[in-house]
Amino acid sequence: MKQYTRVCARIDLDAVIHNMQAMQANLADGVQMIGVVKTDGYGHGAVPVAQAIDPYVAGYAVATIEEARNLQLHRIQKPILILGVTHPCYSRELVELGIRPTVFTMEQARALSEAVTELNRERRKADVSAEAGAERTETMEPLRACIHLAVDTGMSRIGLPCDEDGARLAAAIGRLPGIYVEGIFTHFARADETDKSSAVRQWERYRHFVELTEAEGLTVPFHHAANSAAIIELDRTHWDMVRAGISIYGMYPSDEVGQEKVKLEPAMSLHSFVTYVKTIPAGTEVSYGGTFKAERTTKIATVPVGYGDGYPRNLSGKGCVLIRGHRAPILGRVCMDQFMVDVTDIPDVRVDDPVTLIGRDGGEQITVEELARTGGGFHYEIICDIGKRVPRVYVRDGRVVGTKDYFTDIYEDFI
Ligand SMILES: *Cc1c(COP(=O)(O)O)cnc(C)c1O
Repeated sequence: MKQYTRVCARIDLDAVIHNMQAMQANLADGVQMIGVVKTDGYGHGAVPVAQAIDPYVAGYAVATIEEARNLQLHRIQKPILILGVTHPCYSRELVELGIRPTVFTMEQARALSEAVTELNRERRKADVSAEAGAERTETMEPLRACIHLAVDTGMSRIGLPCDEDGARLAAAIGRLPGIYVEGIFTHFARADETDKSSAVRQWERYRHFVELTEAEGLTVPFHHAANSAAIIELDRTHWDMVRAGISIYGMYPSDEVGQEKVKLEPAMSLHSFVTYVKTIPAGTEVSYGGTFKAERTTKIATVPVGYGDGYPRNLSGKGCVLIRGHRAPILGRVCMDQFMVDVTDIPDVRVDDPVTLIGRDGGEQITVEELARTGGGFHYEIICDIGKRVPRVYVRDGRVVGTKDYFTDIYEDFI
C-alpha cells in the first residue's frame, strides 16, 4: 500500500454503507433508490462508491455520458441514468450501451428513435449474413432506447413543460418506435428548506402531470422526485423511486434539514502532514499580501495543501486545521499548494505531524459544513472540488481496501 506523505482523502465506505441503510430504513417497502454518483461521486470516487452501495440501489445517476461510460468500464452493471442533457450526437452510443438519457424534447427523442431503428437494421443484416455463412450467431434481441422523461415543476432548468401540452408531448415521445419510457421524474428546488410548501407544490404539479400523461395513454414503471432532502423529510414524495445524492456521502443537504430522523456519517476526511515548523518574531508577515502580521512571537507550521488541491482559498485567515487534537488557525492567505497555521499554543508540533483538514482528531472535529460556513462557501462544492492531486484512500470494515491516485493511475494505463 502506497504511503501518502503530502495529502490524502480518506473515504470511509463503512460510513457510506451506514448512510444507505439509514436512508433505506426511512423508505417504505418497495421504494427503490438511485445512487447519485455524479462529479466522481461528489469527489469521493464514483466507482468505489458505486461498488459499495450496489446492494442498496436499483441503479445509478450521473451528469454526463462520460461518467456513465466510466462506471460501465469499471463493470458497474445496473442501469445508469444521465440527469443532464446529452447531445443527440450520442444517441447511438446511448442505445448500444443501454445508458438511460434524460429526455424532454421531441428532437432528442427522435434522434434516439432513429438510432434504434438504424442499429436494429444493422443487426438484422449482420444476423442474416451470419445465417448465410457457416456459423450461426445467436439471434439478437432488438435494441430499444430506455429513457427517463424530465418534467419541469419549478426548477426552470430542464424538463417538459408541466401542462397538457407537455403531457401530450410525453405521450408522443413514448409512442416513437424503439423508445421505452422507463421513468418520469422531476427535481425539487427547495426541498432542503424548513418550509416545505414550495416542494409540496412542485410535488402536486408533478402528480398532476403524471395523471395527464396517463390520460394520454403513457404508463411508466418508475416515478422519482425525491432528492436527499425529500428522502429525509418528505416521505409523501417517495412514490416508487428516490434519488439519493449528498446523503450517501454523509452530509445533510442543508442545516435546515433535520438530523434526527436519518443519522448520517460523513464519509470523507482530509489528511496532511506538517512539512516545516518555525518561530517568527512579532511584526513578521505571513503569506501573500501580508494579510497576517504576527503580534507576538509565533510558532507556525506549514501545511502542503492549497487551493490547487481544492482546499478553499476563502478560508484564508479564517479556517483551522487539527494538529495533535487541537485547532490551529490558518495564518494569512491559502496559497495554491501550501498554507501556514499558528501552532504557538499546541505543544511539541513537529515536521511530519499529522494534520486533519476535514475530520476528527481527538475530541475535535472539522466538518465540510464548518468549512463552508467559515469560508462562505457551499458544502457540496467543497467536496466536489477536492482535486485530482489528492489521492483517495478507501476504508472498508476499518481496513484500507484500495487507493485511487489520479497521477500514478494515468501512468499505469499508458505503460
Ligand atoms: C444532483 C441531483 C440529485 C441529488 O441531489 P442531492 O441533494 O445531492 O441528494 C438528484 N436529482 C437530480 C436531478 C440531481 O441533479
